[in-house]
Amino acid sequence: MSKTDFSALPLSGAMLDNLTSLGYLSMTPIQAESLPGTLDNRDLIAQAKTGSGKTAAFGIPLMEKLNPRWFAIQGLVMCPTRELAEQVAKELRRLARHIDNIKVLTLCGGSPMGPQIGSLEHGAHVVVGTPGRLRDHLGRGTIDLSTVHTLVLDEADRMVDMGFYEDIAGIVSACPKKRQTLLFSATYPDNIRKLSGPFLRQPLEVKVESLH
Ligand code: ADP
Ligand code: MG
Repeated sequence: MSKTDFSALPLSGAMLDNLTSLGYLSMTPIQAESLPGTLDNRDLIAQAKTGSGKTAAFGIPLMEKLNPRWFAIQGLVMCPTRELAEQVAKELRRLARHIDNIKVLTLCGGSPMGPQIGSLEHGAHVVVGTPGRLRDHLGRGTIDLSTVHTLVLDEADRMVDMGFYEDIAGIVSACPKKRQTLLFSATYPDNIRKLSGPFLRQPLEVKVESLH
C-alpha cells in the first residue's frame, strides 16, 4: 500500500467504495497533504491550482462527518459563481453516492427565491452557494446555519476579488464558532490572510505547486 492510497486514511467503507467506483485510485498531492489533518478535524488553508482535486479534498472530510439521519445543514460550501457551485454540488453528490440519501442543495443568484425557500423548508444536509444569495437568505431568515460543522471557502481569492468579503463575514458569523473551516485559494495574497485570521483556528497550511 502506497501512502497516497486512499486506503491509508481512516475512511468509512462506504467512502472507500465510492472512491473506487469513481476511479479515484490514489490521492492527488493536495488530497495527500491535507486529508490526514482535515480528517482529524484540523482547519486548513490550501493553496492549489485548478484541476488539483480540491473538491474531494474538502468533500471527503465534509461527507465523513455528516450524520445522514439528521436533516440539518451540516456542511456549507461557498463558491464565487453559480457555475462553480453547480460543479462542486455535482462532485459532492458523486462522493455521497453510497451514503444514505444525502441531500445537497445549491443556492445561487439568478434563480428565483421561492423554490429555494421551499427546498430549504424541506431540508438539506449540505448547501453549496454563492455569498450574495446566501446572505440574502440569512437576511430573510430563510436559512439556519446554526447546525453547520464544516464550512468551506472555495476559490476564496476570487470571492474576495469579486467584492464578497462583507457577505462572507456575515455568513461566517451565522455559523457556530465550534466548526471546521477549510479555505482554498489559487493565490495567497494579503486579502486572503485577512480572511484566514478571524475565520480559521490554527490552520494547517498546505501549498501545492504542480498538479501531479
Ligand atoms: P479543482 O477544484 O482543484 O479545480 P476538482 O476538484 O474539480 O479540481 O478536480 C479535478 C478533476 O479531478 C475532477 O474531474 C475530479 O473528478 C478529478 N479527481 C479529483 N480527485 C481525484 C483522484 N484522487 N483521482 C482521480 N481523479 C480525481
Ligand atoms: Mg474547484
